[in-house]
Amino acid sequence: METIIDYFANISSAHRSAILIGGLTIFFLIENAAPLFDKKHNKWAHSGLNIFFTITTILVNFVMAFLLVKTADWVVANNFGILQWIPMPTLLMTFVGLLLLDFLGAWLAHFTEHKVKWMWQFHVIHHTDQYVDTTTANRHHPGESVIRFTFTVLATFIVGAPMWLVFMYQSMSVVLSQFNHSNVKMPKWLDNALLLVFCTPNMHRVHHHYRQPYSDSNYGNIFSFWDKIFGTYQVVDNTKLVYGVDTYMDKKEASNVGNLLKIPFSGYREPIEYDKEESL
Ligand SMILES: [Zn+2]
Repeated sequence: METIIDYFANISSAHRSAILIGGLTIFFLIENAAPLFDKKHNKWAHSGLNIFFTITTILVNFVMAFLLVKTADWVVANNFGILQWIPMPTLLMTFVGLLLLDFLGAWLAHFTEHKVKWMWQFHVIHHTDQYVDTTTANRHHPGESVIRFTFTVLATFIVGAPMWLVFMYQSMSVVLSQFNHSNVKMPKWLDNALLLVFCTPNMHRVHHHYRQPYSDSNYGNIFSFWDKIFGTYQVVDNTKLVYGVDTYMDKKEASNVGNLLKIPFSGYREPIEYDKEESL
């Protein structure tokens, strides 16, 4: 455990980048070997666009990183936050910390982005992808990257998380997000086993169906518990899903970088009203 803590306490930017690129590469290879959907589209243009948004996400996180480091150092120095107030053995503290960081920094951030209109205007860029795959994981408007970063700082503050735990959480979060967006066709037994703890592709894809109520479900990133606890968990046969978002289904509109960057500032579009009786 000490070795793991030491590793994350001193993790270099090069190692953090290697985790991100390594994860993308592995899931890209797996999803191309065993795809769920084998749709004809320009994979390079699609990946290029998503990687552009991945790079802007990395830049935002890099520029704002000092805020996170300062917060984590402050909570430890001042004994502030849940983990600092309740003494626990290191292993238990790590699990509780990861659970809470995932809840506040990812699930709650994501849920809020769907409920607050101006935040949705930024988050919708993530949902405009009509060919969800592992590269979709970090397709975030730079404005959304700032929103998510702010939630991570707040989560660190409330949880009282030391920096090594935040780095461990962020590394897990990147890989899990790449995994649960991947277009891999997984055996049902494996999906069901992983689903007991983690958000699997089978679960998260439902969130990328083009209309409500499905797009307002399965918000989780690392752990599958939160959606089950808060009643936002839905099971849908993935082969029936249509990716995208009802308000931006025009393919050209949804695949142009300049256009996607402008969406948050171009007025709110009302989603299609859904019939409560209708189900997939
Ligand atoms: Zn979403």
